Amino acid sequence: MNTVLLERLGREYPELRLRKGRKFLFRPPKTIILGTEEPSDLLLLHELGHYLCGHVSFNTEPERLRTECEAWEKARELCAMYGVPFDEDFAQQELDSYRDWLDKKSRCPSCGLTRFQTQDGVFHCPKCDF
Ligand SMILES: [Zn+2]
Ligand SMILES: [Zn+2]
Repeated sequence: MNTVLLERLGREYPELRLRKGRKFLFRPPKTIILGTEEPSDLLLLHELGHYLCGHVSFNTEPERLRTECEAWEKARELCAMYGVPFDEDFAQQELDSYRDWLDKKSRCPSCGLTRFQTQDGVFHCPKCDF
């Protein structure tokens, strides 16, 4: 972890709480968990991106996917500002693995059709649930 970057963020965003943890995570409204994964500077700026985009919570998975895309777009700007190399492939991989996971999660366990989610976060199968 680049401590210079960390100190700079601490000065520029004194309201942010930076905590150590296992995985990088943004916990609304203003806590960033500092994980041990690499590339740590990029992941840190991605979590800061969630904060700056005002992401609070999401009910449905497509909404969550949208916030992930937004946070990566924001991270691209932040990288330019803070002189951190933006790794396009890494960002795409993260989004792809998220899409795969979403794809598996939305599949109906009984019939294999893609289910949809209502605002309460519950998945419904267009075939089995009606
Ligand atoms: Zn994220
Ligand atoms: Zn089904």
